[in-house]
Amino acid sequence: MANLDDLYREIILDHYRSPRNRGELDAPGVVRTEGYNPLCGDELTVFLDVRDGIIVDIKLTGHGCSISQASSSMMSAAVKGKTVDEARETIERFKQLMTVHQTALDDRAEPVVADLRTMGELAALQGVVKFPVRIKCATLAWNTLSQGLDDAYGVQGTGSQ
Ligand code: ZN
Repeated sequence: MANLDDLYREIILDHYRSPRNRGELDAPGVVRTEGYNPLCGDELTVFLDVRDGIIVDIKLTGHGCSISQASSSMMSAAVKGKTVDEARETIERFKQLMTVHQTALDDRAEPVVADLRTMGELAALQGVVKFPVRIKCATLAWNTLSQGLDDAYGVQGTGSQ
């Protein structure tokens, strides 16, 4: 497992160099949501096409640091084709990864470690918590997605709790 950090670094670099789902969507019902991280200057616009509770397409535009770019690319790959409920679950798990780790570091307790089996590629971003100022770079995409899903439900009225 000595090379896990290298593997994680490779995953992040791969998404940064070859971002997934770049571009815009322009179809009826597409929801456009903007996110901004003033601490770093990261900007992100998420285009969501949600139909019958499924994210049938997602596109991203924007610019920012490597962490924000990689995280948004990974976010788009993780939720495309998934149901809104699954996407919200992934958002929660990702935020937990960021905050639980932070708490663990503060308490000098045993950190909760996510691995590729449970989190897929997203596990690669857990190293970000070692640099608290970058956490908002990593969570920007997820907060913007969360807002976009709220907006999508508002527009389409597909909410079914
Ligand atoms: Zn940033």
